[in-house]
Amino acid sequence: MKTLYSKFVITTMLVMIGSLCIGFLATNTYYHQVVKEKNDAKNVNIAREIASYIETTKPEDLDKYFTTLGGIGYQIYVTDGDEGQFFGGEYRDKSMSSKVVDRVIGGEIYHGMREFPKETFVTGFFANELINTIGVPFTIENKHYALFLRPDIRLLFSEVHTILAGLILVMTILSLLAMLLFAKALIRPITKLTEATHQLAHEKFDTLLNIDRADEIGQLAISFNVMTEKLQENDRMRKEFISNVSHDFQSPLLNIQGYIDLLKNPSLTEQERQEYTMIIELETKRLSTLTKQLLLLTSLDQSTRLLKREPYRLDEQLRETVSKYRWQLEEANMQLTYQLVPLIYSGDAGLLQNVWDNLLTNAIKYNVENGEIHIRLLEQSTYVEVLIEDSGLGITADQLQQVFDRFYRVDASRTKQGTGLGLAIVKQIVELHEGSVQMESVIHSGTKVFIRLPKL
Ligand code: ADP
Repeated sequence: MKTLYSKFVITTMLVMIGSLCIGFLATNTYYHQVVKEKNDAKNVNIAREIASYIETTKPEDLDKYFTTLGGIGYQIYVTDGDEGQFFGGEYRDKSMSSKVVDRVIGGEIYHGMREFPKETFVTGFFANELINTIGVPFTIENKHYALFLRPDIRLLFSEVHTILAGLILVMTILSLLAMLLFAKALIRPITKLTEATHQLAHEKFDTLLNIDRADEIGQLAISFNVMTEKLQENDRMRKEFISNVSHDFQSPLLNIQGYIDLLKNPSLTEQERQEYTMIIELETKRLSTLTKQLLLLTSLDQSTRLLKREPYRLDEQLRETVSKYRWQLEEANMQLTYQLVPLIYSGDAGLLQNVWDNLLTNAIKYNVENGEIHIRLLEQSTYVEVLIEDSGLGITADQLQQVFDRFYRVDASRTKQGTGLGLAIVKQIVELHEGSVQMESVIHSGTKVFIRLPKL
């Protein structure tokens, strides 16, 4: 596997080598186009000035003069065509065609620096060869000579040049090292992130990332931690849900099994037999309701579930719901009043029926003997509001916080038939309609549930 780090290092190296090549080619072009010509002209001028000075100097002083010139940084070759003498730094390659020498002695100027046969590279500037010189003629005591010279590059490379070269070298090494360290520092949190992701994949949700940075990686770490916490919460809820479901299935099944065993006893009285059968019937109903509610919740959980919205008479749906429960109301001697404005609402009638069923059965279940229930349907400019109010047991503010949680039931002893899923279903259906549920309750006094559904 090619790691991000090795990729970064290789890319940095390639960029450095690439820029070095481009820089070299650019300076080379500049040398050939501009510097070479100027350099040649400059050295021709110097050579000429030396030549004209020589012609005015005494011949016995010439050696000293050339030696001094050699000392200050010129490589010199003086020849009369037959014999020659070198001064200053030594040439690596001393070969020179006699034709060139003859031509210079004959009065021509030799532009060896300009013509030096290296087309692509600046290396011509450094080539320590006799042919890489400027040649000028001079005459002493009617004898013609040729003077070839070039600046001694080794001498010209002064301390400043060495310092500059050192500076560039140190800069290159330091920036390379800094880049490598920076890359390591940059990649370390990504490695941590990868490890944490592996842990998550193995359902270990307690690995929070400890990356304290203000940049994009820091942001990523924060988002990762938020995601981990959510997954942890989801996992907790999932486990709790499974344990609740198992428990809520297990206890009625145990009851049913127990009462069936009792029923097997032939010495039971008719009254006992009826009592046990009724309990079995109730527990079976409870199981059936639980299964239906769980199926409904699962289908509501599917985020892709689409509402089957259709315009229908909401007031009539509420009226029909009331008449469905009339016998239960009468049995408990409860008073139910309603105030319903005729209203057409565009919603999923099948799902909303679940909302009214759950709220009305709660208002009956958690009511008192001779209690009252009031239902009101109002139309506002942007929404419709259904209020279901009862004068029943009521709940405390603390309990109110939790009633919409799945499986939450205030009555711990579970004397009332229920699953703790009803209000969770109500909330989910109302929210699917982009509406809201609000519950107000006063203990021992009564409860109000407001459902607001926005008009489309
Ligand atoms: P359940 O199936 O137990 O009725 P719900 O989700 O419908 O489940 O309600 C959750 C809990 O909220 C109930 O157990 C009950 O204690 C409380 N509750 C719901 N509606 C009312 C109400 N109208 N009056 C008093 N308590 C209520």
